[in-house]
Amino acid sequence: MNKKIALLGSTGSIGTNTLRVTESLGSHYEIYALTAHSKYELLAEQARKFNPAVVALTDPQLADKFKNALGDYTGEVLIGPDSLCTIAKMPEVNTVVTAIVGAAGLPAVLTAAEHGKTLAIANKEPLVIAGELLTEAAAKSGAKILPIDSEHSAIFQCLQAGKTSEVQKIILTASGGPFRTASPEQIKNATLEDALDHPTWSMGPKITVDSATMMNKALEVIEAVWLFGVPVDKIEVLVHPESIVHSLVEFVDGSVMAQLGAPDMCTPIQYALTYPDRETGIASHLDLAKLGQLSFEPPNLDNFRALKVGFDVAAAGGSAPVVFNAANEAAVKIFLEGGIKFARITELIEECVDKHQVRQHISLEELLEVDKWAREFVSNAASKSPTL
Ligand code: NAD
Ligand code: MG
Repeated sequence: MNKKIALLGSTGSIGTNTLRVTESLGSHYEIYALTAHSKYELLAEQARKFNPAVVALTDPQLADKFKNALGDYTGEVLIGPDSLCTIAKMPEVNTVVTAIVGAAGLPAVLTAAEHGKTLAIANKEPLVIAGELLTEAAAKSGAKILPIDSEHSAIFQCLQAGKTSEVQKIILTASGGPFRTASPEQIKNATLEDALDHPTWSMGPKITVDSATMMNKALEVIEAVWLFGVPVDKIEVLVHPESIVHSLVEFVDGSVMAQLGAPDMCTPIQYALTYPDRETGIASHLDLAKLGQLSFEPPNLDNFRALKVGFDVAAAGGSAPVVFNAANEAAVKIFLEGGIKFARITELIEECVDKHQVRQHISLEELLEVDKWAREFVSNAASKSPTL
């Protein structure tokens, strides 16, 4: 069957790589819709090149500029945040690639899950905050959720060697980010430039900062709970600076399966699109003899407290991950704007999580309320003491 793809967030790091992958896969993979938030010139260029049936820009303030930039593109043009849900449920679309950053992707991810689409998910935040609602919606509609996040793609591939009930533990690997070997003093004085200098992966700014705090790994622990239906006490984090082993699964008989590959998101993006088949890929192939050695070490939970909080939040469940994620999104935004120091991100997350009274089995409305409260809490706390 031809894949008719809606690519939500086509101008970002995952989005542009997804376009490279689909181009290389050939005519069975059709780009039906493209969306972006503010990079209207790039979106217009993609619209002219890929000629999708629909394009959408979610920032309404840039609508006129976008329409002018579209030139001779003749497809349908949608404007505003609601266009994401409109596209996610279009009957022509069978595959929704979600490459939006943050909780902003939640309504579209939920809509796609409710409408039985195949979801190739890079956008981890909706899974973290609404895992229960999303997996319930997918189970009801028959929607498939396929991971793009490299660690989760690795686990998904390893799990094909056994049953979920036979899993002893899931071992999520982490590069350790730019501050893996830094002292607490160096982390405290880290600049924006230091935090954006990731050693192995090239990604959007928010996830790059999340990798520097190791908040990204904390979010990925919660993401794994929902994607694979395993309790958090069966999930471990292992630091692996070379980013070659993308994650591992240990089974009850002691066998450990691992998935290896070059650190290139094109491989997990492609697997989510071609699953259950494999096609020739565009990522470079591994030369293990040339690499010589791979190294592993435990995470430093004193320097990267966000990871420790993440395990507690995953165990608490309910509204805890909502607060955890929203506090981080708010703090990272302020950090990227130069409003707080790097170390303050983790402190703000801890303060916010501490203040919150966890509620279980929350509705979408309650979730959005809790999300809003956490963002306001962080914004107020950051303006009172930006450098604590
Ligand atoms: P990015 O910042 O490069 O791109 C984000 C995309 O989302 C852009 O197309 C942008 O237009 C869109 N967007 C931003 N705000 C929006 C809003 N409010 N409404 C609608 N669209 C909006 O981000 P990225 O690095 O590509 O990451 C995307 C997602 O994939 C994130 O959830 C990230 O955690 C996850 N992820 C990324 C990588 C990676 O290698 N970049 C790896 C694993 C997982
Ligand atoms: Mg990852």
